[in-house]
This record gives sequence, structure tokens and C-alpha cells, in this order.
Amino acid sequence: MAATRFVLAVHGGAGAPPREGLDPAAAHRRHAGLRRALIAGRDILAAGGSALDAVTAAVVALEDDPEFNAGRGSVFTAAGTQEMDAAIMDGRDRRAGAVAGICGPKHPVLAARRVMEASPHVFLAGPGAIAFCRAQGLDFAEPGYFATASRRPQLASTDTAGRHGTVGAVARDGDGNLAAATSTGGTAGKAPGRIGDTPIIGAGTYADNGTCAVSATGEGEFFIRFAVAHEISARIAHGGQGLAEAAGAALAAVATAGGSGGLVAVDRSGTIALPFNTERMYRGYVGADGIVHTAILDEAYRSS
Ligand code: ASP
Repeated sequence: MAATRFVLAVHGGAGAPPREGLDPAAAHRRHAGLRRALIAGRDILAAGGSALDAVTAAVVALEDDPEFNAGRGSVFTAAGTQEMDAAIMDGRDRRAGAVAGICGPKHPVLAARRVMEASPHVFLAGPGAIAFCRAQGLDFAEPGYFATASRRPQLASTDTAGRHGTVGAVARDGDGNLAAATSTGGTAGKAPGRIGDTPIIGAGTYADNGTCAVSATGEGEFFIRFAVAHEISARIAHGGQGLAEAAGAALAAVATAGGSGGLVAVDRSGTIALPFNTERMYRGYVGADGIVHTAILDEAYRSS
């Protein structure tokens, strides 16, 4: 099986405290977390595995990492609860699965994938989604697993840039198939019941082998209103734009309306784009040479 020309890109959110708030030790931990996720996906792609399996593995690794706002380490709602959203999409046939407003399944992205593969539906929310996950035998976390101490002070934060974050991955495998997956705790201090762009197909997550795969992060309300992930695909399909141009234009429209964020995307030729209009976006990529590249600010990538 061909394992050539694969590429995987991940993000750990564009939400962040002000620049002076990120100490070198935290930066180091986040580079390491991105790297672990990229290696998990890379190893699947290098062995001839699918883009779908690679983005799943990368997002699982980021959900396990309390440094990022997804799975363990998810932010709190205004009511002090945690409500997670996730989605996955397979570019081969545009099958998709999503969950919203759940707390219990250890890996929300696996819940989304199970919705895609084991239900006739695309999107399950709340108690019904949790019951489905139990019936499917998915791993549930112990009480307290998701709640990390460092997330609580964010409830009091007035800095909107510090209130969000998300994880996501896009990949093109050696057979030319695309996939995207995204997972989040949402925005800190959100109203209970609020759902962001992450699990909404075409807003925060999208994949179509004919165009591109996209995973977004940022102020979800804007990404929903501007259907950002599908907008990028549509610009390629109908406007003849290249990936960077399409992604840049979609993000510029969000910025014009006052929204901030970023995204990772890959097109069918394996070209990647990782644009953001925030101060930083935790991000990285790896290609068939196996070299892992990670970055946080608008700086040179660390490669190893
Ligand atoms: N987009 C996510 C949401 O609105 C949060 C983020 O990516 O920062 O739920």
C-alpha cells in the first residue's frame, strides 16, 4: 500500500492568554503535546493507514493532554460544568459524525466517530449522545478526570482570547484520501447548552476528497455564521481558488465581522495551510519525510 506523500497537520487552539502569560515551561509542554499527537498520526500514515485513523489518533492524543481545551483539561461553563463537542469527517464519501454537550466519554472524538460508523445519524447531543456512547461500550472517564485545576481561574477571566481553545487534525493519506477531526471544551464561561462550531459539519470541521479537509478553532459563533470550513471547500470547488487563498479569504471574512481564530487545512494534492488571525495558534505538521514541525507564535517552526 502506498504510504507516500502523506501529510498531517494539527492545532491545539488559537485561544491563548496574552503573550506574556505563556511561560517557557508551558510552551515546552505544548510543543511536546503537539509533537506527541503528530507522531501518533504519522506512525499510522507511514504504515499505510488511513487519514481517518490518523486524525482520530492525533485528536485522541490531544484530548488526553490537559494542556489543551478538549477531553481532559476542558474549560468550564458559567455553571461550573464541562460540556464537550467533537466531530469527524471522512473525505472519501463525506460521512460524518458529531457529538455536542457531552461530559463522560473519555474521548469525545471517538464518540463522534462511533456516531458516524454505528448510527444512522450524523449528530447526537446531550443525554441521548451519552446514552449512545454507553450502549456502544465506549470508555467513560472517572468523575473528576476532565477537571484540571488550571481551568477554573479562566471562568473569571475577561480576556476573550484566553477563553477559548480547541484541538483538531487534518490529513491526506498515501492513497490521497482526506479526513478532519476537531474536539473542544468550547469557550470558558459559555452558557450551559451552548454549542460552538467544532461539531457543526461545514463550520468547524469538513472534509471532501475533491477539495480539502479543514479543522477550525476560534470564536465559534463567527465560524458557524460564516460556515468557514465549507466556505473554504466551496471556494476551491466553485471559485478555482488554491487552498491558501481560499483559507485566507474565509478567515478574512470572519475577521471583518470581528471574529478571531485560525484553522488547519490540507487539499487533495497534500498542500497544507495553517492560517490564524490571533496572536498565536498552537500548531504543527508532519509529512512523509517524518520530520515533525511545531509552532505557537508567528515564529519559525521547531523541527525534529
Ligand atoms: N471554536 C471553539 C468553540 O467555539 C473554541 C475554540 O476553538 O477556541 O467552541
